[in-house]
Amino acid sequence: MNIARLLVLGTGGTIAGAGGNAIGAAYRPGGYALEVLVDGLAALGLPAQLVPQEIARIGSQDIGFAEWQALHAACQTALADPAVDGIIITHGTDTAEETGFLLDLTLATTKPVVLVGAMRPADAVGADGLRNFANAVKVASDPAAAGRGVMLVMGDAVLAARDARKAATSSIDAFRSFPRGPLGRVTPASLDWFGPPHRADEQARYPFPQELPRVAILTASAGMDDQPVAALLGIGAKGIVLAGMGQGNAPAQVIRALARAAAKGVPVVRSTRVDEGLVDRNVEVDDDRLGLVAARALGPAKARVLLMVLVAAGITDAAAVQAAFDAG
Ligand code: ASP
Repeated sequence: MNIARLLVLGTGGTIAGAGGNAIGAAYRPGGYALEVLVDGLAALGLPAQLVPQEIARIGSQDIGFAEWQALHAACQTALADPAVDGIIITHGTDTAEETGFLLDLTLATTKPVVLVGAMRPADAVGADGLRNFANAVKVASDPAAAGRGVMLVMGDAVLAARDARKAATSSIDAFRSFPRGPLGRVTPASLDWFGPPHRADEQARYPFPQELPRVAILTASAGMDDQPVAALLGIGAKGIVLAGMGQGNAPAQVIRALARAAAKGVPVVRSTRVDEGLVDRNVEVDDDRLGLVAARALGPAKARVLLMVLVAAGITDAAAVQAAFDAG
């Protein structure tokens, strides 16, 4: 049997979380070094060779451009290295969907790239990290995992990074897959794909940004006025994502202010603060007339990631931005 050689990039998170008390609530994400996790996994005797490389030891709420740049560079190197079969990224769950989607947009799909996290710290009773990590090894070792984009393995499910959404704050079953269902089901002993690879041998869709443009998320609420839009433009926002009500709605004066921003060349994407459902064009808001973009299936956090990538690539025209969101 061929043993897969996997690069493991560590960033911290609860999967590396240290509480120092198996029944306590408080803990520090990234408290354990990546080597500790990898040693724990090695003790399971999985048929894979793991090569650890620590990028950071942080809670993923603190992740930003520097870590994303380092992750992207390490992935690029590994994708080009014939000695590496797949990549695993240990990551906090708070922003796993953002990191995963950014890499999904900016990496080729020629080898498996799998994010994995945990909801319980590594030293908590009933910790889920080791199992999730073993599952990630199973996925990243499978040649059939390539061509599916960047994935997230949590709770015995394989999710496309584009569809993965954190939907619970603490349950070990915290992630949902929307609008498409999971790509597969995994345990340390089995892996079932629910369909064929849908992005075989694709090159990167977009260049990785040289720097991240300031793109802000504005959450709509009842009775709000247009001052927050003015404030965002005042701090130099290069794009705005509305986390709107329902179908991406907001009070009329907010929509008018967003349309004025769009007219000045600041792209505006309407997403929703609702958990599920698409935001389509021209439903209650006349996007055609106002120059706005509908986020379709992307929630606010991922809409912001795509808009940052587009603005960084010089794509700001509403029709072109809409086409990117439609392609999803
Ligand atoms: N705040 C943690 C993080 O995202 C939560 C987790 O990993 O589950 O790093």
